[in-house]
Amino acid sequence: MIGRQRQMIALVALCLATGVPIIVLSGGPFATYTQLASSTLACLAAALCGTAARRATGTVRGGWALLAAGCLCWGLGNFYWSWSELVVHAEVLFPSPADAGYLLFPLFGTAGLMLVAGWASAGSRLTVLLDGLIAGCALFVVGWVVTVRSVWQAGGDSAFAFVVSLAYPVGDIVLATMAVLVAGRMRRGGRGVGLLLVLGLVGMATSDVMFALDTSAGTYTTGQASDAGFFICFAAFGAAGWTATRRPMVFDGAGVMTRWQIMLPYLPFGLAGCVAAGQVLTGGQVDGAEALPLLAGLIMILLRQLSTLLHNSRLARRLQHQAYHDPLTRLGNRALFTETLQSALTSATPAAVVYLDLDDFKVINDSLGHDAGDAVLRAVADRLQSCFAQPDTVVRLGGDEFAVLTFRVDALPVQAQRLLTELAEPLQVGARTVRVSASVGIAISDGRPTRPEDLRKNVDLAMYAAKAQGKNRYALFTPSMRHDFDRELMWRAELHQALTDEALHVAYQPIVGIGDRRVVGVEALARWDHPVLGSVAPDLFIPVAERAALIGELGMFVLRRACAEFAAWPGAAEAYLSVNVSPLQMLSPQFCDRVAATLAETGLRPQQLVLEITENALADESEVIGTLVQLRATGVRVAIDDFGTGYASLRYLHRFPADIVKIDRTYVQDITRDPAALRIVGTLWQLFHAIGLTAVAEGVEDPVQAEMLIELGCPLGQGFLFGQPGPLAGLAITARDPQSSGAGIGPPPAVSRGYGSLAGT
Ligand code: C2E
Ligand code: MG
Ligand code: MG
Repeated sequence: MIGRQRQMIALVALCLATGVPIIVLSGGPFATYTQLASSTLACLAAALCGTAARRATGTVRGGWALLAAGCLCWGLGNFYWSWSELVVHAEVLFPSPADAGYLLFPLFGTAGLMLVAGWASAGSRLTVLLDGLIAGCALFVVGWVVTVRSVWQAGGDSAFAFVVSLAYPVGDIVLATMAVLVAGRMRRGGRGVGLLLVLGLVGMATSDVMFALDTSAGTYTTGQASDAGFFICFAAFGAAGWTATRRPMVFDGAGVMTRWQIMLPYLPFGLAGCVAAGQVLTGGQVDGAEALPLLAGLIMILLRQLSTLLHNSRLARRLQHQAYHDPLTRLGNRALFTETLQSALTSATPAAVVYLDLDDFKVINDSLGHDAGDAVLRAVADRLQSCFAQPDTVVRLGGDEFAVLTFRVDALPVQAQRLLTELAEPLQVGARTVRVSASVGIAISDGRPTRPEDLRKNVDLAMYAAKAQGKNRYALFTPSMRHDFDRELMWRAELHQALTDEALHVAYQPIVGIGDRRVVGVEALARWDHPVLGSVAPDLFIPVAERAALIGELGMFVLRRACAEFAAWPGAAEAYLSVNVSPLQMLSPQFCDRVAATLAETGLRPQQLVLEITENALADESEVIGTLVQLRATGVRVAIDDFGTGYASLRYLHRFPADIVKIDRTYVQDITRDPAALRIVGTLWQLFHAIGLTAVAEGVEDPVQAEMLIELGCPLGQGFLFGQPGPLAGLAITARDPQSSGAGIGPPPAVSRGYGSLAGT
């Protein structure tokens, strides 16, 4: 609002600053010299419009150049007039070379304004031109009836002279109409330049009409008051050029006209019709000079209607395309998919829906940026399209989700595998090579009536199954998936309730010196006391908690409970507490603080706590590593759990922020029957020892395994042989006789293997 007020004040100030002096001087001895001033102003305006042209690009540059040419022609024409009057002291003939300069102004101006507006749509540009011509014809009729006819009948020096004088107001009317249209299409915040151009053209039109009337009446004198419009015109054009160099005009690109823009040409034409009708009603006659422009106007109105209709139908097609397509990949969108699926399922033809969700696309977006992410999505769209052909429909549902409706149902598994292979091809994104994979779900409708929403739910489940099975694969929907899904939902709800009710407890399994069976640590293992199923094993509910985003809460419950119970256990001073942690827990920025707070609450020293994390969570460059480094700095130790079951590369092992490695039980179980397994375990011990990691053998179940581990030199073990997971209260720190297998701890060993440092001293 304030901006608009300021613009109006600036325009009024400009009018006063340029118009008032000429009105004051008119009729005085300096009147003829004002001609020189207006010529200079026109040339200055030409220079400023020229600057705008230099700064602009494309067609807008041409537009400003034409406006500059228009101003220059007018200025030169006016110089000729001044020269004739002031130097040659001869009356300027009409028409003269000066008129050529004056009349080139509306010609260049019209073309210039069209280019400056720079509309993409030719239909829209034509509409503007027609609007200008319609308004010009209509105003000519009005002008003719009101004054020009009587001037015409009075006669002029020559018909040519008269036509030239009429060309002024007609040209200006066209220009003014166009300028109004230009200003009308400018967007908020970029209208200043347009308003200046309109002001200039109104000034020019007013002075031109007065000039034409006075010339034909033979009463025109140089520098008369009505010439003020010329000054206003060129001052405004100059200001417009100068403003455009700093703040270019902005136009509505949508090509949608407002109501007043549509009405604009009809108003003067209606007025012309009323004037002509009034003439007939008062007994007068409509002569050729009125009838011809009226007819021409009518034809142009019809052309305008046609052009508008064509423009609108193009616009409607474009809008329809936009409504059904994704601008990024140019594939169809969700709306198109919904409609196509709906109609496909009404026929008895078998059809299938394929859903594709990129694996870990967030990582690409986060690490390489959103532009790279967009490039990947476009490449995936191209690969998808190359795998499916008409009449299949390939769409992007949103984000990194794509869908295909295909009728080649039999070839689907092969097709899905081909798709995965195509996707796996490396992608070049800028200077980086990116590899993507996807989880693909497939659901088939066998031609029997199927509701689209059912098919979509099924394919969703299949896609989730593909993700759950390890990603980069496809899964075909089977009814059991729905059952699994319902069960998952039920488990999530029950686990949530269990956490609220604290229906979980912690079982403890001893970690012992294999030789002396002395307890060096205890591992805390979560148990869920289910009202129907009894004690539920963590293998079943930890993954559910991870998928339901309950793992943070569950993990903290176990940590707090285990720390509190361990702190109250008599053997706590000589052993450590090992707690399993999910990598998802560690992604929370508050994790370290929570661990520290728990230790403080329960009075445990950081050295008494070991956090166990599976090796996959430590894959190179994992975010978890930073958290582990931070934790170890506080004194808490880290154990790599289930070593040998994941993907951790030996190359990075020494760089992991870990203290203990727990060799998975699958290796330990085989040592009694497979010499290769024995050699692997033996070599692993030596390797870990060499890089300063303490090894623990998991899943030791029988005394023979224990004997062999002792032979290999392995110091520590955990397994049913040394004790089942159970309440901490029943666990004694001293070991029982090694021969008496099963739960419980045997007597002190004869030989110490030197693992005492592991106890949280
Ligand atoms: P884990 O950390 O490797 O824990 C050892 C698992 O092996 C325990 O199963 C234990 O009962 C079992 N086990 C111990 N000795 C033997 C043996 O001699 N033979 C055989 N066959 N098994 C043995 P559990 O308690 O069912 O725990 C399974 C897994 O669940 C754990 O494996 C751990 O990865 C995870 N887990 C348990 N509690 C938690 C927890 O609080 N948080 C997280 N994130 N994971 C947990
Ligand atoms: Mg563990
Ligand atoms: Mg383990």
